Amino acid sequence: MQRIVALGVEVKLNSRVDNILESMQTGKFDAAFLAVGAHIGKRAYIPAGDTARIVDAISVLRSMEREDKPMLGRRVIVYGGGNTAIDVARTAKRMGADPIIVYRRNREKAPAHDFEIEEALQEGVMVKWLSTIKQAGESSITIEKMVLDDKGFPQPTGEFETMEADSVVLALGQDVDLGLLDGVPGLELTDGVVKVAPNMMTGHPGIFAGGDMVPAERNVTVAIGHGKKAARHIDAWLRNATHEAPKKHEVATFERLNTWYYSDAPKTVQPMLDIIRRQSTFDEVQGGLDETNALFEARRCLSCGNCFECDNCYGVCPDNAVIKLGAGNRFEFNYDYCKGCGICAAECPCGAIVMEPEKL
Ligand SMILES: Cc1cc2nc3c(=O)[nH]c(=O)nc-3n(C[C@H](O)[C@H](O)[C@H](O)COP(=O)(O)OP(=O)(O)OC[C@H]3O[C@@H](n4cnc5c(N)ncnc54)[C@H](O)[C@@H]3O)c2cc1C
Ligand code: SF4
Ligand code: SF4
Repeated sequence: MQRIVALGVEVKLNSRVDNILESMQTGKFDAAFLAVGAHIGKRAYIPAGDTARIVDAISVLRSMEREDKPMLGRRVIVYGGGNTAIDVARTAKRMGADPIIVYRRNREKAPAHDFEIEEALQEGVMVKWLSTIKQAGESSITIEKMVLDDKGFPQPTGEFETMEADSVVLALGQDVDLGLLDGVPGLELTDGVVKVAPNMMTGHPGIFAGGDMVPAERNVTVAIGHGKKAARHIDAWLRNATHEAPKKHEVATFERLNTWYYSDAPKTVQPMLDIIRRQSTFDEVQGGLDETNALFEARRCLSCGNCFECDNCYGVCPDNAVIKLGAGNRFEFNYDYCKGCGICAAECPCGAIVMEPEKL
């Protein structure tokens, strides 16, 4: 954040935008990038008695930061198979409950990251795969077993089971609050998210969007990527130009690497909190890398297909055809001197040089 502020970006915290067009007009902004996320918990219709306690996962997680922590009871059923379901089940475990995740498909088809499912299982979270909730009562729920059809869709079997439950937490995904876009002409919505062009611009000129509010995989990596991509396109759009992403080079496959140039460097092990503390505290489960370890990890990169200026080609070329352009600028080839012997390509550790037949 500090690096962004240092670039000259002004940050206004705790400011809600209710009407994007109005905000753009008042602030005299020519372009806007929206990334409001998806924060409205989806509901599912579950026939339930008056006393059944059904809450949504986002509210439960949000209230964990406040004094009024949710009273979920001991037997907590979490309905869903995404990262939110895993988070809420692991949270319930830390609060002393016995959470059980109920998900309609199997582990392979669950949208949650598999390592998170594994960590939840290690902590004692139980999972009922291939099950849907049919009914919720005061202290129990009825679930129906499912089977996957040829296309991987869950189908009911008519087999039912009753499980004890003090509460049901719905973690069935989140919708986007698109209120700030009310009345904006030209927008196209699909399944509750805003369509964007390849340059991340919505159907309204000057309004760009990314992250969870556009059709894409919902995770942090994708959201950050959208921000970076959109920034380049907005910059071009403001200058009446178009941004062309540089062409990607051919993939440097393993055969093109000369691995003997590299020394063996085993992966750094990240510290894992012991299981008892994982089940009873909210301490960080997997420790991050400290500065030394992070630098070591960066040095393990083989830089496949990307010149890292080892000077090998410069040293081995028998015809002085490799021209050094200075630190950070890599090399150029003098094709008047190069006789195409291919020694440089053969000796490049990372497969960054490609030999191409001369076009006559
Ligand atoms: C419980 C949970 C667990 C998850 N676990 C993982 C995980 O393990 N790994 C992973 O990669 N992803 C995970 N995700 C998904 C990930 O959090 C999202 O994909 C990512 O944060 C999306 O980024 P975003 O910028 O689109 O939205 P967000 O990160 O949601 O940010 C949106 C921001 O906009 C603000 N905002 C909203 N409306 C307005 C408005 N009108 N005016 C001003 N500000 C507004 C919000 O307050 C918020 O700060 C998880 C999501 C949830 C809910
Ligand atoms: S092209 Fe390959 S051999 Fe030449 S400096 Fe870069 S990494 Fe080294
Ligand atoms: S192909 Fe041979 S001559 Fe040409 S730059 Fe490489 S090493 Fe030098």
